[in-house]
Amino acid sequence: MQQQLIDNFERKFEYLRLSITDECNFKCNYCLPDGYHRTHSKSFLSSQEIYNLVVAFAELGTKKVRITGGEPSLRKDFTQIIATVASIPGIQKVATTTNGFQLEKKVQHWFEAGLSAINISVDSLDANTFHLITGKNVFQKVMQGVSACIDAGYKQVKVNCVLMKGVNDNDLALFLQWIKTEKIQLRFIELMQTEDNQPFFKKHHLSAQWIKKRLLEHGWQQKKPLSHDGPAQVFQHSAYKGEIGLIMPYSKDFCKSCNRLRISSTGRLHLCLFGEEGIDLRDLLQNSKDKLALKKRILDALQDKKSTHYLQQGKTGGTQHLASIGG
Ligand code: SAM
Ligand code: SF4
Repeated sequence: MQQQLIDNFERKFEYLRLSITDECNFKCNYCLPDGYHRTHSKSFLSSQEIYNLVVAFAELGTKKVRITGGEPSLRKDFTQIIATVASIPGIQKVATTTNGFQLEKKVQHWFEAGLSAINISVDSLDANTFHLITGKNVFQKVMQGVSACIDAGYKQVKVNCVLMKGVNDNDLALFLQWIKTEKIQLRFIELMQTEDNQPFFKKHHLSAQWIKKRLLEHGWQQKKPLSHDGPAQVFQHSAYKGEIGLIMPYSKDFCKSCNRLRISSTGRLHLCLFGEEGIDLRDLLQNSKDKLALKKRILDALQDKKSTHYLQQGKTGGTQHLASIGG
């Protein structure tokens, strides 16, 4: 029987988030407000290392890989990495999360290389607020990128928006207007506390419960969760082409539906976005002959996965910012 990634709390992990760089060209105020500064001398995983890694995960039941960062599209070999991951038997879905900077120019190539789903970060629909949040005056360019995704053939595009009190919490009406006619799943993500953003977090964190309440009051219906939804709560409305997803990491039971493991851009396995320094896998990624040992190290590590992230208790597990291990 095929070995499976199941932890001590009966959670099954068929979804891998793979960071391929921690570098970024944006300066999001909640993530890298001073821009990217390299803090290590290690190289990022090569295409061959990524291949060896994902083959092992696929043989342990992984079906979906999200390529993230940092900004994954900054890698010159990004299209090749997509094609490599998509070619691995057992991998049914290859997704990415991007700030959208290169989208308009590159999305068609990514689609042809086998990228099956895409999430774009758009934290405001007001160009000035977008500039203030990201440090980049490129709102129109990113929005053209979102349209280019639809033109490239994606049936549904997901847009991530980090909720911030006093920054973009007045944008809900604009966002709703947008998805009335666009088949977009708009995902509001509650701001998470990291080592680097503590004062910012205290000032701007906002629970998404008020959005849930407002949606339910206005005829939106919560969809029955699909196994691959993970912790997102998804809402739909017959008058809207798009959907709303809420990601509320501070809500009770959020971790119960955890279905993902993470790999950092230098090859460390992270059992949780917040939690530990990670388990180094790199020595076992050099040669395909080490596959059995690699699978054993991953399976052994999974036995240490905790039931929850302890964010409610203010713990950040040492995560400097989400660019470091891929949000
Ligand atoms: N650079 C890409 C992007 O921004 O889409 C991918 C990496 S980014 C770390 C992945 C996602 O994490 C983005 O949607 C981003 O907005 C979100 N994110 C980053 N820091 C966060 C935080 N402290 N709390 C909540 N979401 C965060
Ligand atoms: Fe870069 Fe993404 Fe972090 Fe923004 S959220 S600074 S785009 S890694």
